[in-house]
Amino acid sequence: MTINVIEISVVIPVFNEDKTIKETCIRLRSILSKVVKNFEILVVDDGSTDDTVLVLKSLLEEIEELRVIKLHLNRGHMVAINVGLRHSRGKATAIIDADLQDPPDALVEMYELIESSASTRDPVFIVEAQRINRSTDTRFKRVTARLYYRFVRILTGIKITSNVADYKMMRREVVEVLSQVSE
Ligand code: UDP
Ligand code: MG
Repeated sequence: MTINVIEISVVIPVFNEDKTIKETCIRLRSILSKVVKNFEILVVDDGSTDDTVLVLKSLLEEIEELRVIKLHLNRGHMVAINVGLRHSRGKATAIIDADLQDPPDALVEMYELIESSASTRDPVFIVEAQRINRSTDTRFKRVTARLYYRFVRILTGIKITSNVADYKMMRREVVEVLSQVSE
């Protein structure tokens, strides 16, 4: 049996976020440390060309719960998310953007929903944050989002609502199925 089970992993896809990533990691650590004992912040650097790598390097000295995975080329945020999911170890795993456009405090509520239902007959597998207005997205983004969710639904049989942001938290079982979805 593992002694230090990681309760929550948070995956952050990151492309040229040298202005935001430090604050985001510090905010996340402060929130998560109030909720669980063991967590990890999993940053996937999607081939950034600004100073993101340098910022992450110094953050690694500061935040022991931080793990960084570096992609050498920019592959797009969905690939970065998938790489993060494959490396995540938490009993629950969340995905959040680096720019704090989605309120990180909501992670607490997401985790409570998953955790409090875990030993019931109807456990919550995924908690998804819904964007109030998606019309600001480009057409391309809307289409890729639809395709992605349809793809996942077909492969897993798990119904994931379309038109949600990437901001969500999932139980381990879901992460494992999603990790098998090829890039
Ligand atoms: N991102 C990424 N690779 C890319 C573009 C974006 O990993 O090629 C990351 C970005 O750093 C952010 C998240 O994906 O953490 C969402 O990107 P963005 O904020 O540009 O998307 P939007 O807010 O428009 O959905
Ligand atoms: Mg954004």
